[in-house]
Amino acid sequence: MKKVTILVPCHNEEESLPLLYNTVSNLMDNDPKWREYAWELLLVDDGSSDKTIEVMKSLYEKDDRVSYIELSRNFGKESAMFAGLNYAQGDCVVIMDADLQHPPHVISEMLQKWEEGYEDVYGKRVTRGKESWMKKHLTLFYYKLLQKFVRYEMLPNVGDFRLLDKKCVEALKEMKESERYTKGLFCFMGFKKIGVEFETQERVAGQSSWSTGQLFKLAIEGMVSFTTIPLKFATMLGILVSSGAFIYMMVVLFKTIFFGEVVPGYPTLIIIILFLSGVQLLTVGILGEYIGRIYIETKKRPAYIIREYKKQEKEYEN
Ligand code: UDP
Ligand code: MG
Repeated sequence: MKKVTILVPCHNEEESLPLLYNTVSNLMDNDPKWREYAWELLLVDDGSSDKTIEVMKSLYEKDDRVSYIELSRNFGKESAMFAGLNYAQGDCVVIMDADLQHPPHVISEMLQKWEEGYEDVYGKRVTRGKESWMKKHLTLFYYKLLQKFVRYEMLPNVGDFRLLDKKCVEALKEMKESERYTKGLFCFMGFKKIGVEFETQERVAGQSSWSTGQLFKLAIEGMVSFTTIPLKFATMLGILVSSGAFIYMMVVLFKTIFFGEVVPGYPTLIIIILFLSGVQLLTVGILGEYIGRIYIETKKRPAYIIREYKKQEKEYEN
């Protein structure tokens, strides 16, 4: 019997977790498709400040399909997922959110595709749930931009809800960078991919851990860790500004020689100084983004630290 691991990163999910468990265990027990497999529900507590870990412990006591990992503090969803991938025991791993925004019944379809030989079955959002017009269009534009500069396909409207074959999991484990942008890593690793559509649900309980600021940070992370566009942008800007300055110099020279205007305006001077300082700070900032990453990666610190790992006891005959 093949084993499937459902990997759920959790941060302050004490309310959603029991609901998730009920839905999932119900499917494991009763759904004809799900019953063809052995299951592991691997919960990763990403430094929650509420009672998430107690809920996990009680689920672990109650059900021998449950394993859990408790991280020593909040490391972020990316690291929590990485921790889970490192400990997943299944022949394939399904990653999903704890808040039931990813409907579990879609997993049956994913399993079907997996059996047909696809190695990375990703959930494709048909609707993006409740979101402002601005956020939606900015996101789409962002993906278009990213796509222009990388050689492999970057999929928009695709999140972390997906089924990964063991081969993909092994490949992801090899990518040891500590600043992880998993969305990009999935695209980078290749393998036979196919999408399964699903409707994003509303969060069942609790609230989203992502603020706009964090999303912005993630967006920069994607750009910087997967492309060198910002560096190219800095170069282009440099060329543009220098050409502008050169042309302006010619104009001033021309005016001085032919019309004898020698005292340039004070406002022009200030504007140019401010503009150039702005450009310099911007480009230094861009360099800083890369240097910061080099700095962090050279320290080779682990992406996460585990306080406790409780492995599922049940052994399945193959
Ligand atoms: N999450 C996590 N660590 C964090 C933030 C979030 O493990 O630092 C988990 C969270 O518990 C949930 C999933 O990541 O299972 C998605 O988070 P959330 O629902 O807050 O994000 P959204 O659905 O709004 O994108
Ligand atoms: Mg959510």
